Amino acid sequence: MLKTNEILDEKNKILHKISEPAKFPLTDEDKKLIKDSYEYLRLSQDEEKAEELNLRAGMGLAFPQLGKLKRIFIISYKTEEGNFIEYTVINPKIISYSKELVYVEEGEGCLSVNREVDGIIGRHARITVGFYDEDGNYKEERVREEIAVAFQHEMDHLDGILFTDRIDKNNPFKDKDKMRAI
Ligand code: ZN
Repeated sequence: MLKTNEILDEKNKILHKISEPAKFPLTDEDKKLIKDSYEYLRLSQDEEKAEELNLRAGMGLAFPQLGKLKRIFIISYKTEEGNFIEYTVINPKIISYSKELVYVEEGEGCLSVNREVDGIIGRHARITVGFYDEDGNYKEERVREEIAVAFQHEMDHLDGILFTDRIDKNNPFKDKDKMRAI
């Protein structure tokens, strides 16, 4: 199980480095980190467990946040019905995207940013992404709304960008009227 303190904090310079494509087959260490990340994200979205284990809630985790500069991230999103929508995403590329932009009304969160951050970020409402799964099979998925935002947030991590870097400090709610709140 990952410990909260194994997730790098925003002050760590590794988070601003660009990750390398992952090679197949994945190493045993890669596979273990993927498994541990799923466990962490699932538990973190269970209020009781999160409190008991002192986990901050998250729905995505990218390898650079664990100090590994590889282009891999995991999404585990708990729906209102209590099911998990999950993706292991390796070496992703955006194939197409909607012109429509959305922003997370309550602000984006990040397991590496342990503070309140004011501001919004325009993200494509829908994107089609090509990527490899854990076994090295190529796939393409169309994702939308919260999941699309999560993909774009995590892809930024692979390029050394934190969501806080995308907020204009002098005008943190810039272009709000040109985007849809989700
Ligand atoms: Zn993040």
